[in-house]
Amino acid sequence: MNIIIFGPQGSGKGTQAKILTDKFNIPHISTGVIFRTHMKKQTKIGKKIATLINNGDLVPDEITNLIIKKRLSKPDTKNGFVLDGYPRDLAQAEYLQTITQLDFALEIWISDIVAVERISQRRICSKCKSIYHLTNKPPKNEQICDICHGDLTTRQDDKPNAVKKRLDLYHAKTESLIKFYKKQNIFHQIDGEKTITQVSEEILKIIK
Ligand code: AMP
Repeated sequence: MNIIIFGPQGSGKGTQAKILTDKFNIPHISTGVIFRTHMKKQTKIGKKIATLINNGDLVPDEITNLIIKKRLSKPDTKNGFVLDGYPRDLAQAEYLQTITQLDFALEIWISDIVAVERISQRRICSKCKSIYHLTNKPPKNEQICDICHGDLTTRQDDKPNAVKKRLDLYHAKTESLIKFYKKQNIFHQIDGEKTITQVSEEILKIIK
């Protein structure tokens, strides 16, 4: 089952992707996570992309497409995958088509107001990368991860200026995927303002 999941920042696509991968035992492939790992390890790619990512800009296609091609060629993707954060625009969607075939393209929709509110309350563990929301999924202590006791931080690109840029990019570029995948009859839109359980039930109904 080859799935892509997209939506504005804060739509919960990472959370839903994880639910799907646990249920179907297929890998969750997030370009954002791959890039942040490169940055943390200060690899050659990590150093190249750090400023772009921290400012909320997109990483160039020649880097992103190659990373995806390599990742999708690994044996753990043979029964499927959930792609999160890729493709982000038409050019990437067209490239993806040349290396694999998709079964479902899911958009988790939320309004910009909800996106900004959710992201301002998002905290991420600097060690194990667990994600919290100060109201909806609060940690016991606002600064410490419940799971591994690592420090909770705000992602650099979750700061207000970068968030605005990322949302603008979503509307300008990623939304064009809707028409593209509608034409292929694999597009489904899910209301991401509902609870995590309601959203995942909705997704499961679609992909069954
Ligand atoms: P995310 O965690 O999906 O919000 O991604 C974080 C950041 O990584 C984005 O704001 C971009 O700078 C970069 N990024 C992730 N996926 C892509 C992609 N498909 N194309 C270009 N840049 C990306």
